[in-house]
Amino acid sequence: MPPLDGNGGGGAAGDHTHDVVIDVGATTTSSCVVCMEPLEWAAIGPCGHGEVCAGCALHIRVFQNNRRCCICRAPCRVVVVTSHGAIAAAAGGGWPAVSSRLPRSLAAAGRGGGYSRREGRVGEYWYLAGMGAFFDDERQYAAAKAAARLGPPPCGDANENPPPPPPPTTTTTTRTRTGVSNSDGQGSILTREKMEALVFILVVVVILVVMAFV
Ligand SMILES: [Zn+2]
Ligand SMILES: [Zn+2]
Repeated sequence: MPPLDGNGGGGAAGDHTHDVVIDVGATTTSSCVVCMEPLEWAAIGPCGHGEVCAGCALHIRVFQNNRRCCICRAPCRVVVVTSHGAIAAAAGGGWPAVSSRLPRSLAAAGRGGGYSRREGRVGEYWYLAGMGAFFDDERQYAAAKAAARLGPPPCGDANENPPPPPPPTTTTTTRTRTGVSNSDGQGSILTREKMEALVFILVVVVILVVMAFV
């Protein structure tokens, strides 16, 4: 019976294991999809994606003025910054579970139930208007507020900074100074220079002595 050899009807296809699963949508992701740092505090939006850390969410929403989800590009007028553990615990529930306790604005409630947009403490949350984010932790709110005030970090200039610090002039000055004080910082270079100078002086002296005798 030839078909028995194929381990069932699958044949060659049965040997392939389809383990490649793109895990971006899962709430079990434990690192930020933007900066790849471990997720401690995450921002979750109405689309249900909560795999972006609070820092990246702040950067994208405040400094880049981008209110869309990094993963699905869905507009997220409001996000909730909470511990990644809380989002993971709400697996399956996602946004509905996290947002169920968000403060509702009385004025907006009559017109479709918007969230309160009052800056600062609202119910059990802190709202950062500049970011459009509710925080369930006051320290995270305060840190984000301070970071938003400071403006974007100069990450773009970081690549331009390294070249200026090591100017060759400073090195020469240091070398001369250390030569006088005889510090062990660049001792090997100094010793070589000194040795060369000594050898040169010796040669000159020897020549002079030889010439004096001749
Ligand atoms: Zn991040
Ligand atoms: Zn999304």
